[in-house]
Amino acid sequence: MSAENAFRIDVDASPETGGPYPVLLRQGILGSLPAVVQQSVAAHRWAVVADHTVARLHGERLLDAMREAGLETQLFAFPPGEAQKTRATWAVLTDELLERGYGRDSAVVTLGGGVVGDLGGFLAATFLRGVPCVQIPTTLLAMIDAAIGGKTGIDVPAGKNLVGVIRQPRLVLVDPDVLATLPDVEFRNGLAEAVKHGAIADASYLDWMVEQRQAILARDADAVAGLIRRSIEIKAGMVAADAAEAGPRALLNFGHTIAHAIERVSGFVVPHGQAVAMGMVVEARIGEMIGVTRGGTADRLCAALEAVGLPTTLPGRYGETGDLLEATRSDKKVRASRVRYALIAESGRPARSADGDWTIAVADADVLRAAKLGSTTISRDETDI
Ligand code: NAD
Repeated sequence: MSAENAFRIDVDASPETGGPYPVLLRQGILGSLPAVVQQSVAAHRWAVVADHTVARLHGERLLDAMREAGLETQLFAFPPGEAQKTRATWAVLTDELLERGYGRDSAVVTLGGGVVGDLGGFLAATFLRGVPCVQIPTTLLAMIDAAIGGKTGIDVPAGKNLVGVIRQPRLVLVDPDVLATLPDVEFRNGLAEAVKHGAIADASYLDWMVEQRQAILARDADAVAGLIRRSIEIKAGMVAADAAEAGPRALLNFGHTIAHAIERVSGFVVPHGQAVAMGMVVEARIGEMIGVTRGGTADRLCAALEAVGLPTTLPGRYGETGDLLEATRSDKKVRASRVRYALIAESGRPARSADGDWTIAVADADVLRAAKLGSTTISRDETDI
């Protein structure tokens, strides 16, 4: 990676959610962590929160750097996976912090993917009514999405992310070196969100991804840094415009209503990024069908997704049954019993409802038809009646 790829992006978050903060990307920044974090956070004790996988792969380097700089730092690790993003893990971590004597002069450093970021961020936001948090995302998805914007929280039996708080970190540090150990399926989960950023905000970014597909998939350092940079700029812009998620931030849900339904119907066998890829295509087709999305948008989106190795057609069994439709109903975006979707007007440009809303109510029949159109077993001609 060339030195000019190192960058700083300031997230202009509203004061009520914690105010502005920088995102810094630099290769090897983990090693120079103490100097960087001390400039932003005056803490006397540091709690590094990680899952066991990331702790094993990257935790030691971080802890060594902190301790060599004389910073009192301890690791708080838990098993990896979404299943750990619970009240129970939060409670264990909170009690451990208290038992080990952490007080108001402490800070939390999250080192990991979105699970660690969400849970560790929630821990920091609630511990002793809130201590500073530094986010160090280690998956592509967390770098370009989860670590930016201050959404923290946990899953509960009624659903994902239903308990939490929006509280910005003091600092986000991105060290692309850690991606070297990230499994391919996780890397592609991040790429799906990058395509989403292009789809909702910047068509030229989609074109760039298609052009750079080989370099991106080979994880070329310059291409990956370029992708992380543009995606963070887009997400940061949306957070600044709408930190409390009342308006345009809803656009980040593009593709996600169908994606969450696919994940649920598949028993969470379909990886999140693949579900988001298929979800975006179905939702673009819904938009085309109800006249809010320009014709050809779904095909353009398919080209970008296929370029970076993501699926664009639903396995037939999801499109053909009412299960998928039923699963969209348990999404948070249901209002007045019609499911509302964040849709795009065309590649790079969001759609608004007639009354200016950022989400649009869609009839079940249109959802079902778009899902069928986007599935592998029914051809377009058969459904185009
Ligand atoms: P994750 O945190 O579960 O990480 C995925 C897997 O990758 C884990 O097994 C982890 O141990 C492993 N891993 C992480 N970094 C690694 C590395 N560098 N090398 C090797 N393995 C590594 O999942 P995720 O996809 O990063 O995040 C998903 C979570 O993020 C979900 O809980 C979702 O709700 C949340 N999320 C939050 C926001 C937000 O705005 N707060 C946005 C999007 C997603």
